[in-house]
Amino acid sequence: MAVDLAAKIRDVPDFPKPGIVFKDIMPLLADPEALKEAVERIAEWAEPKQPDLVLGAEARGYITGGALACRLGCGFIAARKPGKLPWRTVAAKYALEYGFDSLEVHADAIVAGQRVLIHDDVLATGGTAKATVELVEQLRGEVVGLPFIIELEFLRGREKLQGHEVFSLLKY
Ligand code: AMP
Repeated sequence: MAVDLAAKIRDVPDFPKPGIVFKDIMPLLADPEALKEAVERIAEWAEPKQPDLVLGAEARGYITGGALACRLGCGFIAARKPGKLPWRTVAAKYALEYGFDSLEVHADAIVAGQRVLIHDDVLATGGTAKATVELVEQLRGEVVGLPFIIELEFLRGREKLQGHEVFSLLKY
């Protein structure tokens, strides 16, 4: 029987600030069957797109992103908060559901023409995902899809990602 992934997401009200219901994926990650099923279902969606690389967004996108890259036979590249990466970087700014920030990737992370899958735990307003699309495009990679574990549909993040294939395991 399929694992009930939704039962493994913990709602944390008023985190990190009042009015935000934080979708905590830690119970899903801690459960071996749920983790395997989540990675497997995303991999099945992503495999036909033949990605070369999985780009994970800091920080929870690294966990399932790394597993996903390994399952797909892809390399993994990291989008990090400013000042964290040791090498030369390119940057893109974005607005969060709860604030502003920017993300960076190493300038040599993508070879022009490589097919990149962008992954994160949650698609909320889409600002983070849009910034990662910009990073990939700055390095002349091709975004072949954006799979998430969770999509907060009421925040309409998909609208910021028009022209790209977006997938989510769980919608709220
Ligand atoms: P956004 O840029 O608004 O789509 O926000 C996506 C990023 O913020 C992801 O990296 C998420 O991990 C995090 N995030 C935003 N809203 C939530 C939420 N309600 N619960 C958990 N994570 C969130």
